[in-house]
Amino acid sequence: MAARTEESDTAREQTKAEQDVDQVRQRAARDQQRLDSGMVTSPKDLESLQSEIASLAKRQDDLETVVLDIMERHEAAQARARELAATLEELEARVTDASARRDAAVTEIESETERISAERAELAATIPADLLKLYEKLRTQQGGVGAARLYQRRCEGCRLELNITEVNEVRAAAPDEVVRCENCRRILVRTTDSGL
Ligand SMILES: [Zn+2]
Repeated sequence: MAARTEESDTAREQTKAEQDVDQVRQRAARDQQRLDSGMVTSPKDLESLQSEIASLAKRQDDLETVVLDIMERHEAAQARARELAATLEELEARVTDASARRDAAVTEIESETERISAERAELAATIPADLLKLYEKLRTQQGGVGAARLYQRRCEGCRLELNITEVNEVRAAAPDEVVRCENCRRILVRTTDSGL
C-alpha cells in the first residue's frame, strides 16, 4: 500500500511540475511573439523583454530538471509497486494452496475418526458390560490407557517388569480371566510375546 501511495504521489507531483513547465513555456512564447511582432520599439522595453525571455528559458530548464527527477522517482516507485504486487499475488496463491491442503487433511481426519469410532463401538458391543465398565474406569484414571500389552514380562502401560511371583500368577490364570498390573492396575493383555 505504501508503494502504491508513493506511485500515485509521484504521478501527481509529475503532473504539477509539467504544468509549471508549460506555464513558463507559454509565457516565453508570448514574449517571443511580442518581440517578433515589431510592436515593441523602445530600446528599454526591448531589452527588458529579451532579459525576461532569457530568464524564462533558464527557469524552464530548471523546471525540466525537476520533472526529470520526479519521473525517475515515479518510475522507481512504479517498479517497486509492480514487484510487490507480484510477491503479494504469489503469497496469496500459497495461502490458497495451503488452505486447500488443510481442508483436505481435515476432511480425511474426520472420516478416519468416524470410521475408527464405528469400529470401536462395534468392538465394545462384544465385550462384557462389567469388563467394559472396569476398562472405562481405568482409562479415565490412567491418562486414556485402560489396558496394556504384557510384553516380555513388562507391563507396557507403566513400563515396569513383573516380578517372578506376579509372572507365576499371570501364568496360572485362566485364559479368559482378567489380569491386572500390580503396579498401575491396568488390564494386562496377554499375547504369545508376553514371556510367560
Ligand atoms: Zn503397569
